[in-house]
Amino acid sequence: MNVSLALAGNPNSGKTTVFNALTGGDQYVGNWAGVTVEKKTGHLKTNKSVDITDLPGIYALSPYSPEEIVSHDFLMGKGNEKPDVILDIVDASNIERNLYLTTQLAETGIPLIIVLNMMDIVERHGDRLDAKKLSEALGVPVFEASALREQGIATAAERAVEIGSVKHKPYHARINVKFSETTQAALKAIIDVASANMPKTRPQIHFAIDLFERNGTAQSELGLSGLQMESIERIITDCEKALGDDSESIIAKERYDFIAWVLDTCYIKSERENFSDKIDRVVTNRFLALPIFAAVMFLVYYISVATVGAIGTNWVNDVLFGEWIPAALEKGLTAINAASWLHSLIVDGIVAGVGAVLGFLPQMAVLFLLLSLLEDCGYMSRIAFILDRVFRKFGLSGKSFIPFLVSTGCGVPGIMAARPIEDESQRRITIISTTFMPCSAKLPIIAMIAGGLFGNSAGVAFSAYLAGIASIILSGLILKGFKKLKVSQMPFVMELPSYHAPRALNIFRHTWNQLKAFIIKAGTIIFAASVIIWLLSNFGFENGTFGMVDSEHSILSYIGRVIAPIFIPLGFGSWQMAVATITGLAAKENVVSTLSVLFSASSGMASHGNIDTVLSSHLSAAAAYSFLLFNLLCAPCIAAISAASRELGSKKWTAFAIAYQTGFAYVISFLVYTVWSAIS
Ligand code: GDP
Repeated sequence: MNVSLALAGNPNSGKTTVFNALTGGDQYVGNWAGVTVEKKTGHLKTNKSVDITDLPGIYALSPYSPEEIVSHDFLMGKGNEKPDVILDIVDASNIERNLYLTTQLAETGIPLIIVLNMMDIVERHGDRLDAKKLSEALGVPVFEASALREQGIATAAERAVEIGSVKHKPYHARINVKFSETTQAALKAIIDVASANMPKTRPQIHFAIDLFERNGTAQSELGLSGLQMESIERIITDCEKALGDDSESIIAKERYDFIAWVLDTCYIKSERENFSDKIDRVVTNRFLALPIFAAVMFLVYYISVATVGAIGTNWVNDVLFGEWIPAALEKGLTAINAASWLHSLIVDGIVAGVGAVLGFLPQMAVLFLLLSLLEDCGYMSRIAFILDRVFRKFGLSGKSFIPFLVSTGCGVPGIMAARPIEDESQRRITIISTTFMPCSAKLPIIAMIAGGLFGNSAGVAFSAYLAGIASIILSGLILKGFKKLKVSQMPFVMELPSYHAPRALNIFRHTWNQLKAFIIKAGTIIFAASVIIWLLSNFGFENGTFGMVDSEHSILSYIGRVIAPIFIPLGFGSWQMAVATITGLAAKENVVSTLSVLFSASSGMASHGNIDTVLSSHLSAAAAYSFLLFNLLCAPCIAAISAASRELGSKKWTAFAIAYQTGFAYVISFLVYTVWSAIS
């Protein structure tokens, strides 16, 4: 018999870790119908007839964000696949906040099992949490667990399957939040008015709370008459008057009161300051936080771009793509007597273009590894917390940090990550400015300029990061001045998870996923673009006939010469740089591969290996930095533009975003180039 389990819990409660442990990695990742919220499903490793669905991480079951709506509808059986049991993953080291969702899950009437995860942290802090007493107080099974150590999870799942297999015994979770007498009376009165309309699928109290909170979906779902609605509204307003608060706040406050009462019976917090608190006293200190953050990021870039990563990249560039591959191809092509154009297409076009991008793989691998490490140990959440104080001053939300962080990987999910920002103006400003962050595709450009003109200086790479942050802040100030982007101030609450030792598997999985996307892009878009650039830069009209020509006479050079004058004020007015910038709109890696194809043809290099040297003879330091800035800040690639267009919801806003980004990039690059040239 098939049993269906749902994993529910707050973000960062360890759901993914539990899910991976239960399914053994055998999982299917898709999207919930109609939204871009990730849906993960799989089977229990030890019993394939048990389906497991991982719900999105949420703090509450209220119908506001897409994540909450998806979870709510799934638990209500709206997608025809109501789960038999909910496994509620509770972060025991943050128990008060986590139990809030638990009280709501219990009211769905679906059997509930609580997995008290992160018990290892609770123990390490010296806190005492009595699972047995908690279970008695709540009336549901509670299992102590540590997903990280794979303890307790299997037992909890076994019990869930056992409960889920009993189809005919109605088993309801018995957590009844003890609301205040006034509220209880109001809820009961609502049930009296509407009980005939309430289907048996859920406990009546659940409908009553929904109605009490004036939840529109519940009102229309029950098909209440005008008369019933009036009576209910009267009950609610009477209760609101009596308690001096609005109905939603009353329910929320009384849930927390109930949780405090439950925890009183089973939870003793240690008096001593724990390890996380000690670190946080320094790391999130008012004055030290930002300098520490800057130092950490500098170190990350120093290791990945300038030292360890650079050794790998130099090897790939100079040895692998500089000698081995060209030499092997040379041999093969000579052996089959390949025509000289084919030879050039493969060596100067494909190997130079794709190789130029793949050459940066070692630097990216080290960078992703370090960022995953910071994320996994809990430091990234601190950064969000620290930056929140700063961001709020610039018309951005603390929640904008997540899109900015995600955008250091890729702007497309970065733009989508802006969805939870409630304020429409803050959300728009975030979407417009988030691609200023140097994404992974821009890293090759940064590394190329840093390596070619500044001796691999970590300072240059780091300054690209700072330029991204500074542009975001400056744009916040500029954009909030627009009438249509007026921002209302909203408070931001954020929970800091405890620090913990990072887990190798998590980090490698994360790093690999990002590298994989990069490699696939190199094999598809960059490959195709390199072939096209090679064709356009090798063919053209000379002396009135069309054919293979010197790149200076190629079709591409003509196109480039039309565009190039625009960039003269920025210091890089050659047709090659203009063409590279334009091809960057398809994918930012193209900037590097285009230059590589162009220069390898014109300089007669065997491969792109010496692009650094060619560049340094082509550009001054000021012009190179201006080129870097322009390419970092101007309109992002097509994929990110279309994501922004979807999220902004109108062509007008999209056009505004592109114009703003490109205009901003132009002005900044112009200023930097002019000042730099003047003083050097
Ligand atoms: P999700 O956001 O709920 O999917 O949470 P994850 O599964 O990604 O876990 C968040 C972080 O907590 C990860 O770094 C996990 O390695 C860590 N984690 C998960 N379970 C435990 C646990 O039982 N103990 C400790 N110390 N860390 C855990």
